[in-house]
Amino acid sequence: MQILLATGNAGKVRELRQITAGSDWEWLGLDAFPGVTEAVEDGDTFSANARRKALHYAAATGLLVMADDSGLEVDALGGEPGVHSAYYAGLPRDDGRNNARLIAELRGVPESERTARFRCVIVVARPGEILLETDGAVEGRIIDEPRGSNGFGYDPHFFIPEQNCTTAELPPEIKNQISHRGRAVRKMLPLLNELTR
Ligand code: IMP
Repeated sequence: MQILLATGNAGKVRELRQITAGSDWEWLGLDAFPGVTEAVEDGDTFSANARRKALHYAAATGLLVMADDSGLEVDALGGEPGVHSAYYAGLPRDDGRNNARLIAELRGVPESERTARFRCVIVVARPGEILLETDGAVEGRIIDEPRGSNGFGYDPHFFIPEQNCTTAELPPEIKNQISHRGRAVRKMLPLLNELTR
């Protein structure tokens, strides 16, 4: 059974192939469909964006599609950057400028009020119909000084007290185990299994 993963990131496709090795799912990435237009991601929630993406690519390809949307929610900023995480400091997308804005917005906010989480929503759809939805989150707090060089995005500023390090200091295997995306994927796979068997 073919499933399109709504991402241009070859690493994400490879990861799902590895996780589901031995199943009869065949994962495709958007690179296999160069003519398909990009989905518009202007929803107010991660769920709305993941749903939009999944329905858009299912309609365009006729395939079963898995789409995700994720980002950082900071409590002291009313949940921002949230769905604006990728472009928090405007265009072009730039992790360094996004992090600089995040730290500037939190100036003067005490450590105890810097709680935040990464959240991820994953949706599976077929043309015209949402079939499955799961989510995952990982709790932490925002620190001013960046630490670590793994990962991407806000990772160097996202400190997890239980791990006593930032997500940029975690080896990729450990980050996948505890991350918002890892959790949402692990909830989704059994549901997808149930749906497609
Ligand atoms: P996307 O849903 O993977 O496109 O992520 C949207 C944005 O959220 C990214 O550009 C990052 O800024 C942020 N983000 C999502 N997941 C992570 C993560 O695991 N670490 C750091 N930043 C993340």
